[in-house]
Amino acid sequence: MDHEVTRSVDEAVAEALEGEADRQRSTLQMIASENHVSEAVLDAQGSVLTNKYAEGYPGARYYGGCEYADEVERLAIERASELFGADHVNVQPHSGTQANQAVYFSMLEPGDKILSLDLNHGGHLSHGHPANFTGQLYEVEQYEVNPETGLLDYDGLADHAAEFEPDIIVSGYSAYPREVEWTTIQSVADEVGALHLADIAHITGLVAAGVHASPVGIADFVTGSTHKTIRAGRGGIVMCREEYADDIDAAVFPGGQGGPLMHNIAGKAVGFKEALQPEFEAYAERTVENANVLGETLAEHGFSLVSGGTDNHLVLVDLRESHPETSGGDAEDALEAADIVLNANTVPGETRSPFDPSGIRVGTPALTTRGFDADDTRRVGELIARVIDAPSDEAVRSDVRDEVAALCEANPLYE
Ligand SMILES: *Cc1c(COP(=O)(O)O)cnc(C)c1O
Repeated sequence: MDHEVTRSVDEAVAEALEGEADRQRSTLQMIASENHVSEAVLDAQGSVLTNKYAEGYPGARYYGGCEYADEVERLAIERASELFGADHVNVQPHSGTQANQAVYFSMLEPGDKILSLDLNHGGHLSHGHPANFTGQLYEVEQYEVNPETGLLDYDGLADHAAEFEPDIIVSGYSAYPREVEWTTIQSVADEVGALHLADIAHITGLVAAGVHASPVGIADFVTGSTHKTIRAGRGGIVMCREEYADDIDAAVFPGGQGGPLMHNIAGKAVGFKEALQPEFEAYAERTVENANVLGETLAEHGFSLVSGGTDNHLVLVDLRESHPETSGGDAEDALEAADIVLNANTVPGETRSPFDPSGIRVGTPALTTRGFDADDTRRVGELIARVIDAPSDEAVRSDVRDEVAALCEANPLYE
């Protein structure tokens, strides 16, 4: 990845691209929403399809010359249908947020009511945050996790829904380490006559591999990101029952987007093909195993985990008891200086500000992609503990950087 061609035109951008590739190779990517796509997905995404306008859908485009675009989009749809068992799939959303937008635009009027999980408790901006279009267009109330257990409070959700009478209930989260009971949430929605959107952005790969229960066939709508656990390149996807297919397609295009990013759709098609192979199931299982090993290691070192552990690809660490002097931001900065990249995160019952919250969110999808096994991951957990125990100790940082370098060398990426 020397970006020779780019370099011949633009030294500055080529330098930055090479710098980014080196950063990804030589440091630990533990942001739970990130992953490393294959070189095949990279190649498809960096292809001539970026040149092509293909407004419309396969077989019904507004432009000529779409035979290859059609082929690629059909393959992406077919493979996604097979992966998830969905009746209808739209692979055009530019991102997970645009996928959610399509559901809202197709089903809600401005002023309609959304009931979603509080952002501080693991929800997402596109579920009704005041700074997001959802918070501006709709009336939003939020449910919570139980602050003691860190688990979704399904009874509280049912009570809240009965009182608020939402038009749609949103499930699926950005920082929830436990399995979600889709059928329970669906019964709450049925009880109050609400639609149910299950946003599996983070766990799209785990659901595809059968490692996490699937909401497809249960929830009215299922949306996802394609660049997180499923590592199919940047983008979004919407799935629904046939009855909603035309409404959803119209809400994606022309409702919310113009021409589809056909090069990204090519990436999705290739990534979905990879996700259909048996190796992907093994990958998803290892990702969850590694998250468990990471959680156990951190717990052994005195850290407190929200919900006590994990069922998926991430652990959420609440630093307040074990490290009351260290904010999530302090931990993030110290770890980054030690070549371990993750993010500060709010925790249930947050007492600091969202800009410098009390926790860190730590994910295993990217490390598992580059080959980290349970032993490697245990070592990573020990390194994280070492850094947070002495967040401004230069000698510790330097030691940890050496160990990170060795782990990276043993698990090479994009050679
Ligand atoms: C990541 C995420 C999204 C989508 O994010 P984009 O950056 O728009 O792709 C949507 N919902 C949840 C719960 C997420 O975690």
